[in-house]
Formats: sequence, C-alpha cells, structure tokens
Amino acid sequence: MRKIVLASSNKGKLKEFSELLAPHNIEILTQDELGIEPAEETGLTFVENAILKARHASAASGLPALADDSGLEVDALQGAPGVFSARYAGEGAKDEENNQKLLEALKEVPQAQRSARYHCVLVLMRHAQDPTPLICHGSWEGSILTEPRGTGGFGYDPLFWLPDSGCSVAELPAEQKNQQSHRGKALRQLMEQIAQYHV
Ligand code: IMP
Repeated sequence: MRKIVLASSNKGKLKEFSELLAPHNIEILTQDELGIEPAEETGLTFVENAILKARHASAASGLPALADDSGLEVDALQGAPGVFSARYAGEGAKDEENNQKLLEALKEVPQAQRSARYHCVLVLMRHAQDPTPLICHGSWEGSILTEPRGTGGFGYDPLFWLPDSGCSVAELPAEQKNQQSHRGKALRQLMEQIAQYHV
C-alpha cells in the first residue's frame, strides 16, 4: 500500500478522497495526523494554491503529497468566491456563514443569471522539489439556488443546483456526487496518469 499525505484538513474532502482512492491501493494520511500545520494559501489561482499546499506537506512529511484546491465560481459575481471559497465570509468562516453571504450577494440576481461551477485542481508532488508536479483539473456546472436544500456533502452543496439531476448536490447520494463531481473528474484523470508518474 503506497502512502500519500493529503495536504488538507477539510473533513469533507478527506472522506471523498478516501472513498475514491480506496480501490487504488493508496493509503491516505492526513497532514493533521502527522502534526503538519496547514500552508498559507497566498496564491491567486487554484493551481498556485494547490502547489503551495502539496510542496509544504511533502517537505514536512518526506512523503509524496496530494493537494486539492477547489472552490466555486459564480458568473454573476465575476468569478467570486473563487480561491476565497473557504473564507468567503471571513477567515475560519463556517459553511453556513459562507452560504448566507452568497445568498445575500445574489439576492437581486434572477434564476437565469445564477450560473456557477465548481472547480477542483489536484496536484501530486513526488517530493518537495518535484519540478514536474502532476496537475489535474475538473469542473462541474450548475446554478445557485435561492435557499438551501438537502443535508449531504459539505460547503456550498445545499445551494448548488444540478439542472440535469433536478436536485441540489446536498440531495445527491455520496456515490453519485463522487461520480459526477469536479473532484471525482480531477481524481479520475490523476488515476489515469499516476501509473506513468512513478510515485
Ligand atoms: P480549499 O480548502 O482552500 O481548497 O477551499 C475549498 C472550498 O471550496 C471549500 O471549503 C468549500 O467552501 C468549497 N468547495 C470545494 N469543493 C466543494 C464541494 O465539493 N462542495 C461544496 N463546496 C466545495
């Protein structure tokens, strides 16, 4: 079983990665259980932040590291909350506070203009100086509801409407979310490429 450190403290992400990677003989250790402090996310793009996080976790652990930088892009808000998705309502904000802020920001915006997408950038680094990290990107189209629906998932899932499924992401069973999501798409790309990557 190969060991990889996950450069994230987000419990929602850990659950999804463990489910998605279990069949691939990869054991995920979290930076929390290794006592590694989270990296500062100073980048302005998902790619920059994912590289910062993976490099930091790999340097601190001596293991290959996988980082996910993800977020929500809302067209009517010129791409916000974007890389600030986790801290949209302030540093350490709870999911409900971020969701409330999003609803407030969109309160005058009609349904037809509430298009949005999730993005996920995954970066796998074999070591902290890896000059060619494996970088994969997945996205997921939807729109933003006017009130929360459902209790599953995490983050903005109760507000993210999937027109083709006729439900919010928080109403989707976990396996279906993993099948369709930005993270699932990025991770499947990663799995296709990992064999040639000599982790
Ligand atoms: P990061 O940990 O800095 O990458 O921030 C990711 C943030 O984007 C999360 O805290 C959520 O607010 C949002 N996000 C990313 N992926 C998802 C998802 O699958 N569902 C809901 N929110 C997500």
